[in-house]
Amino acid sequence: MENPFRNLPSVNDLLETPALKKIVDKVSHNVVANNVRSFLDDARERLKDKTTDFNIPSPSEMADSIAEWISTEDQPSLQPVINGTGVILHTGLGRAPLADQAIEAISEVSRGYASVEVSLQTGKRSHRVEAVEKLLKELTGAEAAAVVNNNAAATLLTLSAMADGKEVIVSRGELIEIGGSYRLPDVMTASGSRLKEVGTTNKTRISDYEQAIGDETAALMKVHTSNYLVCGFTESTGIQELVALGKKRNLPVIDDVGSGALVDFSKYGLPNEPTVCDSLAAGADVVLFSGDKLIGGPQCGIVVGKLKQIQKITKHPMMRAMRVDKMTLAGLAETLRLYRDLEQAETKIPLLSMLSSSLDNLRNRANRLIPRLEGLSHLDSVKIIEEKSMMGGGTIPTQTVPTICLQIKPNKLSVQQFSDRLRCTKNPVFGRIQNDFFLLDLRTIQPRQDRLLIDSLGLKNSQQE
Ligand SMILES: *Cc1c(COP(=O)(O)O)cnc(C)c1O
Repeated sequence: MENPFRNLPSVNDLLETPALKKIVDKVSHNVVANNVRSFLDDARERLKDKTTDFNIPSPSEMADSIAEWISTEDQPSLQPVINGTGVILHTGLGRAPLADQAIEAISEVSRGYASVEVSLQTGKRSHRVEAVEKLLKELTGAEAAAVVNNNAAATLLTLSAMADGKEVIVSRGELIEIGGSYRLPDVMTASGSRLKEVGTTNKTRISDYEQAIGDETAALMKVHTSNYLVCGFTESTGIQELVALGKKRNLPVIDDVGSGALVDFSKYGLPNEPTVCDSLAAGADVVLFSGDKLIGGPQCGIVVGKLKQIQKITKHPMMRAMRVDKMTLAGLAETLRLYRDLEQAETKIPLLSMLSSSLDNLRNRANRLIPRLEGLSHLDSVKIIEEKSMMGGGTIPTQTVPTICLQIKPNKLSVQQFSDRLRCTKNPVFGRIQNDFFLLDLRTIQPRQDRLLIDSLGLKNSQQE
């Protein structure tokens, strides 16, 4: 039998076809050659797979397919999407959307030069975080502040600066894994500090910490068990008790509060989120949190606390490797500035405006959307239902907020197929599948996206069409 692989053209044959020659003029030779190679690899795999009938297309047909491949790959893989999942801080979808003021500030400082490390008053060199530090001090009451890439970096750096080669005492019930490669015990090892676990999974008392203190102890640490809940017979040590013990034994207390609420979230129906101010007021020496969780700012990690400790942290050689750029600083500063007036923060910071949207408001939007979806032949039914949005993003998992969803039953397509197609429209839409319905949560869809949502639900500009 003839070897079928011999009928495949070579990479060079394909590169010489008119369709691909035209593309080489526009994109680099390497991009085209790489795509040709992976197309040929794919064809070889399919030839090997005897269960499928694969007829080798002509070289010019192949060239056309490759050219089309390259042009669709040219679209950025990082695209804006409509989040109808109801998960407010969706890590997969980029966590917190930014306030317009923050976006404008980012665009202003990135377009040209900016006073990153120069004081406009004195013309002398200054620290890049000065403006942000001032706001953080004002909003939290801390003596000093530092900003790094994310809270994982803040944790790593703080432990390195405060406890390299020494022990840090943490409750067994607080040894969290968040996702990606973040597992607290591993982060501690990477920092050079040694974990001293105390207590049990469900109960850790202040006496457990006290008994574990020894010559090697450098700090006591409390970690917010963000993404899980220990319930039933539980006992944990509050930050106040830990601070009292720290004072008695002359040990600093580090508090990783995780989501970094600057305001009391119980007014949005989310009790139990520790606030940064409470932790500082209780006397924690260093408090760590993310900038893109409950603050609703850009991705970063914030460290606030006692001047002596913050100085240790900012002088650490790793600080430079973890510092943020001017865009993050500008976005964070503008977001924080909005917190000076809570009413302003609630209307301008998307995270807070989403949370403070009333059910009536969401229902009205749903009522306006429904007539525009009637008559779409691929939709069998669309109903308005009451559901629950989830906070997500490493906040307490049982925290939910009542919401309004569009409950959609597609026609002809299965719910999964419908969901797949919505993700491939010009304005990709993510929803959630529940009981064989497709749900779109209006709380996480920004009102200005309603028009785009209608387009996508009509499956306009679908790439399959
Ligand atoms: C989310 C979280 C982190 C990690 O924060 P990133 O900003 O995502 O790096 C660390 N600790 C706690 C308690 C968290 O909730």
